[in-house]
Amino acid sequence: MKSEGRNNFSFFDEELSRDASSRLQLISDMRAALSRKEFELHYQPVFDAKTSRPCGVEALVRWRHPVMGLMSPDRFIWLAEETGLMEPLGQWILEQACLDAVSWPDNIKVAVNLSVAQFRSGTLFDVILCALVESGLSPERLELEITESLLLQNKESHSVIIQQLKNIGVTIVLDDFGTGYASLSYLTMFPFDKIKIDKSFTQGLSSRVDCAAVVASVLSLARGLDIAVTVEGVETKEQFELLRAAGVNQVQGYLFGRPSPMADLNFPALERMGRAEAAA
Ligand code: C2E
Ligand code: CA
Ligand code: CA
Repeated sequence: MKSEGRNNFSFFDEELSRDASSRLQLISDMRAALSRKEFELHYQPVFDAKTSRPCGVEALVRWRHPVMGLMSPDRFIWLAEETGLMEPLGQWILEQACLDAVSWPDNIKVAVNLSVAQFRSGTLFDVILCALVESGLSPERLELEITESLLLQNKESHSVIIQQLKNIGVTIVLDDFGTGYASLSYLTMFPFDKIKIDKSFTQGLSSRVDCAAVVASVLSLARGLDIAVTVEGVETKEQFELLRAAGVNQVQGYLFGRPSPMADLNFPALERMGRAEAAA
């Protein structure tokens, strides 16, 4: 029994150290990745629900790891946050997204996700201002997505930065709405222009009464506060029809397009797709 226990322990120990060493390897790879230009931004289209025309894109970061291939942000953002790498990575993301967006039609906005590490840095406002000035992108075309969980701490200092950004004309979006806490009070505490309802509600839309009820009540609340509503994770025509009928402003999801590299973004084709959708 005793030796079995020891064996188990040593096995666990080995797993643990392998985990720790692969984590260290990943951290060291990540430190080099920015200068090696291994990060890329993919863009997912956002459509106006009423007109079915494309009105924006969301920038979603990927890491083209030399050995592990294309990595999704869920696999490395948390590590970047823990190791202080999110600040320089976040700055690159903002600069690149603004540079890319200036070449798109004027009616296309670009949404960038912000991390709590960027808020803590103390330089977020300056970084955003510089990205706008250096790219020449109009602030009205930049949207910043902030999650509820980010707002749980340091409400006062975050609120000052958010107000500063709003003052220069940038759009502030509350992302992943419905997945966190105290959502409703946040709506009056921070000056949001838009709410993005989390995809978990979209997925339950046609089968779960509670999901449809949440979407309907968020819509009526948002209307009262003069806040626009985007719904993400729209994968089926049925979901889209339900959302459009409910009065959602914008939709995003695989039904309209997956995130793709900038080179594959084709706005005239997206316009055509929207027109066909509206006519159908
Ligand atoms: P998010 O901000 O909620 O982004 C939407 C996620 O849903 C994206 O995953 C997108 O690819 C996925 N998605 C889009 N349409 C559909 C759909 O119809 N069905 C389903 N099932 N999924 C859909 P992705 O790109 O893997 O990003 C995951 C998360 O990583 C993002 O969630 C965001 O929180 C974070 N993230 C991505 N890019 C950045 C970034 O540049 N900075 C920061 N701080 N976080 C980022
Ligand atoms: Ca987002
Ligand atoms: Ca989300």
